[in-house]
Amino acid sequence: MSTGKVTILGCGSAKPTKTTSPSGQWVELCDKSFLVDCGEGVLLTMQKLGLHTSRLYNIFISHLHGDHCFGLIGLLTTLGMLKRTQPMHIYAQPDLERLLTPLLEYHANDRLYDIIFHPINPRKHAVIFEDRTVSVETIPLKHGVPTCGFLFKETHRIQKEDGSFERVTRKRFAYCADTMYSEKILPIIEGVDTLYHESTFLESMGARSKEVKHSTAAQAATIAQKAHAGKLILGHYSARVEDHGLFLDEAKPIFENTFLAEENLIFDI
Ligand SMILES: [Zn+2]
Ligand SMILES: [Zn+2]
Repeated sequence: MSTGKVTILGCGSAKPTKTTSPSGQWVELCDKSFLVDCGEGVLLTMQKLGLHTSRLYNIFISHLHGDHCFGLIGLLTTLGMLKRTQPMHIYAQPDLERLLTPLLEYHANDRLYDIIFHPINPRKHAVIFEDRTVSVETIPLKHGVPTCGFLFKETHRIQKEDGSFERVTRKRFAYCADTMYSEKILPIIEGVDTLYHESTFLESMGARSKEVKHSTAAQAATIAQKAHAGKLILGHYSARVEDHGLFLDEAKPIFENTFLAEENLIFDI
């Protein structure tokens, strides 16, 4: 039985609003927890929801815009205060280690746990994490700075009649933020069960979306439809759009099975 689910910790874009903080998602697959992006406010939402950081060993950061990583130093220093001893693995592009190291030396030098940085190349589609039941692949995206999404796969080993084993994929979840419309991702996410695709803007703001390399809700829906996704979750909303229902109105005619990310919501994968 699959246990996949994703909890929305933050679903706004760069500027926090009354109802949204910047990006963060808690992904659970096969009883394992993963954090994807860590904007400001992510730790607070995790605490409110009772998500246990002691269960978290792996963090994936899509890119180094502040709305996707400014929460990290708060989270990592808090884990130090909690006397954590288990290592934390962080998958991100190499600059993150260079940026975080002096802050960690200043604020969390007495921590009892190791932070292990795994440098990733956001321009290359590759498997970056794999254990017995979960694998994670990068999805190269098109944004103002090097950025990749992440494809989570729940896999199981099945014994064949001749005694050999085969790895089969049960559930797949793709996280695609931040990005402008790009059909290059389609072969990687084809047939994915659940797709989170950013939809920062509405169609009326289309020119702005190209300029700052983000997507509209209709573009996110078009990607979901062309990728034959099971369902689509929208998020990374511009602070200028207060009524998130407008994103849904633009996406649903293109891809019916679309949902709005809102903080604290939990989706099955
Ligand atoms: Zn962003
Ligand atoms: Zn960005």
